Amino acid sequence: ATLPYDPDNIFARILRDEIPSKRVHEDDYAVAFHDIAPQAPHHILVIPRGAYVSWDDFSARASDAEIAGFVRAVGTVARDHGLVADGYRLLANIGRESGQIVPHLHVHILAGRPLGAMLA
Ligand code: 5GP
Repeated sequence: ATLPYDPDNIFARILRDEIPSKRVHEDDYAVAFHDIAPQAPHHILVIPRGAYVSWDDFSARASDAEIAGFVRAVGTVARDHGLVADGYRLLANIGRESGQIVPHLHVHILAGRPLGAMLA
């Protein structure tokens, strides 16, 4: 079961600019910023502007326009950072056993080193 959305989660506060972040992209549907504890030379988080706890919540409740806008933003950020030639990884944690910490949907973009066959 999905938890109710907490409007004071850290990424909601980043969206409202109550907490600083190093933004690299923003549009009507998505905001992207550097992860505070990068696990690779490029580690960017992309989040939808809407209030969604996880990919599960987003895919169930978001409008087609929000989903399209968010998916397109993820690809745009990767291209804008020149990540396509050497490749990159997308990762989204959903729920407790995945290790999801922040309860606002985020897709990790990881790149800049060989990433191995699986994540730890
Ligand atoms: P999760 O485990 O929920 O998929 O990943 C949460 C990510 O958010 C982690 O990689 C963590 O380093 C990052 N993070 C947590 N708090 C902050 C913050 O205040 N600012 C930024 N930029 N990233 C954060």
